[in-house]
Amino acid sequence: METTHRSPRSLATEAVHAGRDDLAALGLHAAPLDLSTTYPSHDSRAEAARLDEFAATGALPQGPPVYARLDNPTVARFERALARLEGTESAVAFASGMAALSAVLLVRGSAGLRHVVAVRPLYGCSDHLLSGGLLGTEVTWADPADGPAGIARAIRPDTGLVMVETPANPTLAELDLTALAQSCGSVPLLADNTFATPVLQRPAAHGARLVLHSATKYLGGHGDVLGGVIACDEELARQLRQVRFATGGVLHPLAGYLLLRGLSTLPIRVRAQSATAAELVRRLAADPRIARVHYPSLGGAMVAFEVHGDPHEVIAGVRLITPAVSLGSVDTLIQHPGSISHRIVAEDDRRTGGISEKVLRMSVGLEDADDLWADLDTALSALPSQRRPEPQPAGR
Ligand SMILES: *Cc1c(COP(=O)(O)O)cnc(C)c1O
Repeated sequence: METTHRSPRSLATEAVHAGRDDLAALGLHAAPLDLSTTYPSHDSRAEAARLDEFAATGALPQGPPVYARLDNPTVARFERALARLEGTESAVAFASGMAALSAVLLVRGSAGLRHVVAVRPLYGCSDHLLSGGLLGTEVTWADPADGPAGIARAIRPDTGLVMVETPANPTLAELDLTALAQSCGSVPLLADNTFATPVLQRPAAHGARLVLHSATKYLGGHGDVLGGVIACDEELARQLRQVRFATGGVLHPLAGYLLLRGLSTLPIRVRAQSATAAELVRRLAADPRIARVHYPSLGGAMVAFEVHGDPHEVIAGVRLITPAVSLGSVDTLIQHPGSISHRIVAEDDRRTGGISEKVLRMSVGLEDADDLWADLDTALSALPSQRRPEPQPAGR
């Protein structure tokens, strides 16, 4: 299905103009931040009609807003902008990445399609949400070694979703989205595009019907806003808006404002951070204290590496680099997935997903590469040296 909406403007231009096209006509430069929870109206007949229309269709209400759980003009700007960047018809924003994924599972589950086919590894909480059954989901984990055929085999009549991450958190393993989308048939493919961002990859152009972001990461880009968003066609967006209205996982307008602002520097941040990441990958791959480096063929600012010795020593030793979970910020963060981001996944399942207890995940920021290397080098000095490693492509 071809649901992408190619824009005549380039990504860099869309990043600073999408969602703001009407501002000049309004006599404004910065996007207005509307913090209203409710909207006064003397015409309750018209409000009733707008509520009926939303209940029947899930289309964005036309006319003045009614209540902030239904829609918010600042958040809507972020949604329009993200849809342009991902090349989709629509986007629906949520309070966090996990709220966004929950809404997708509720939409599919309410249609009686509770079975999900997924590929490990996924972000730890996504794995947990699918396998823990909290939302009534039943998951079949397809082995990436079986390729798209393994996905096709795992699909059942009650399969409502195929979910993948590429590059995956935290191993940076990559999947062929085009081949995957073909093997899904009529089942919607959800691609978590948090790591690549639309700067490096637009999954909708490869046939993914749903594109998930933890907007908390690169879209916000400064480590100060929590949010999530699904870019998709308008048919699914309508169902997602209805679930969002009913369950209340809305994005706060201030978060919408900050995310819209974050989008304007997204292309330049991702490119600069990726260049520094590639340089650090070269140095890590040549270092005898490192056992293995994972870096996607797509590029990007996420790096994973396995160490000889105790990875906790590296976390304890960094000073410029921030030892913290999360990613995508302007400053460099490092964490141990086995202890934090993927702690909630059972140890056996982490192993199946290729997540070594020795692996560290680093989100490269905008600092100078030499300064970052000096800090890493000091932190790595606690580790034993071994044979010179061969650089390895991120494989599953
Ligand atoms: C962080 C993350 C999420 C969850 O997003 P939150 O905004 O923390 O809820 C989902 N997917 C990936 C790949 C992530 O890194």
